[in-house]
Amino acid sequence: MSDPKVQANNIEGQLPFDIVRSLIQNKKEEYNRESEIIELIAVSKTVQADRICPLLEKGHKNFGENRVQEATLKWPPLREKWDDIVLHLIGPLQTNKVQEAVRVFDVIHSLDRKKLAASLAREFDKSDRQLPCFIQVNIGEEDQKSGIRATEVDEFVRTCQIEYALPIVGLMCIPPADEDATPYFALLQKIAKDNGLKQLSMGMSADYETAIQFGATHVRIGSAIFGPRITN
Ligand SMILES: *Cc1c(COP(=O)(O)O)cnc(C)c1O
Repeated sequence: MSDPKVQANNIEGQLPFDIVRSLIQNKKEEYNRESEIIELIAVSKTVQADRICPLLEKGHKNFGENRVQEATLKWPPLREKWDDIVLHLIGPLQTNKVQEAVRVFDVIHSLDRKKLAASLAREFDKSDRQLPCFIQVNIGEEDQKSGIRATEVDEFVRTCQIEYALPIVGLMCIPPADEDATPYFALLQKIAKDNGLKQLSMGMSADYETAIQFGATHVRIGSAIFGPRITN
């Protein structure tokens, strides 16, 4: 599903990516956040390299993938050609894929359980790579979604920081589908503040403008940039 505003604006002949970027700029101004950096993560899952290259050619650096395997196939060749790419893992991470994930990605947005924290800590030591980590919060307390429950985030943050010495930079969430995301973004913002965490990974194609109102520092946008996906 692509953003109706993007489609409406598209008559100018601008690329959807440029439209998204300028909408983010508008929202920064509206919410008095001009001096802040809001990272636009272009979510390129299921998108082939030839459709990613135009963004790389414009100098865009931040991309998101949800599958370790797919990223491993797609990104090393692109990194040979373009420097300073920052690749974000936004999907669930199995512990048996941690080694590969730490090699391929630069930022983890889906730290959601103690076993994974332990596994990441071991791999960071072994590989001498410390990837900034976002803790994923199951903000709507949905059974089918992964993430730490809102009431258990404080304790999990401390466990990650003290027991595993992980570089926890912020919180990430995916609010319940087909609901107003506002209260969920507001809650994630509050939990992050209570824990002294500065970064918030929230907002997708349908709701990134609201997320910016509530302090998002990383918006993860796929279909509004690349068009609808056949699968996930
Ligand atoms: C696919 C995905 C996105 C992007 O979704 P769009 O609605 O296409 O913008 C963002 N975050 C996560 C975790 C995703 O899996």
